[in-house]
Amino acid sequence: KHVYAWALDHRVHHKYTESDADPHNAKRGFWFSHVGWLFLTPHPDVVVKRKVVDMSDLEADPIVMWQKKYYPLLYFIFTIALPVGIPVYFWNENLWNSFWINYNARYCITLNIAYCVNSVAHMWGQKPYDRNINSVENVAVSVAALGEGWHNFHHVFPWDYKTGEFGTRFNLSTQFIDFFAWLGWAYDLKSATPKMIYNRAKKCGDGSHCWAHNEEKLDKRIFEGAELTDHEKDT
Ligand SMILES: [Zn+2]
Ligand SMILES: [Zn+2]
Repeated sequence: KHVYAWALDHRVHHKYTESDADPHNAKRGFWFSHVGWLFLTPHPDVVVKRKVVDMSDLEADPIVMWQKKYYPLLYFIFTIALPVGIPVYFWNENLWNSFWINYNARYCITLNIAYCVNSVAHMWGQKPYDRNINSVENVAVSVAALGEGWHNFHHVFPWDYKTGEFGTRFNLSTQFIDFFAWLGWAYDLKSATPKMIYNRAKKCGDGSHCWAHNEEKLDKRIFEGAELTDHEKDT
């Protein structure tokens, strides 16, 4: 799927999480949320909500729309031709092996890791920020999906660019964004403050949070200014 389609379903997922309008509603079971939703006819509510979610920001983005327009060609070049062709051309791998390993096996593994965010990270793990929702913190998913498994945090603070409280722990995606922020290409990054996290975890969490039940540690964290962005310092 291209960026536009992926972002659309992601927005619908966050707005209508675990309802009939959620494209990969985890309440319909592991297999449905993992991969079944991509093969089955979507629930009518999903079709309705996909049409009403605001996508004007991405529609105004020339790169996103360019990728959407040329997606089949780009998919062929970057997902099949280059990964399969490079070993064949440069070190005489045979085409059959390269096709099955570098396209089919690789693609199958990376897709399943991404799918785990919608299935596993909505089922098994801790809920330090909100025990009333089904999304969880899952270390295995975070390691495999480069930081996308801190899913309890992500659903409580979906606008936090780090998609996790600790941007540096098993979160290569955050470091990737940080690198581009350093270059100046990424900006206006938002993060939840320690105080916000503390209050939410204390009020709604399942008690598994490492410091939010300890005022002293909160003070220390605020005092140290741990990982505070400019936005956080303002709030
Ligand atoms: Zn999300
Ligand atoms: Zn989710």
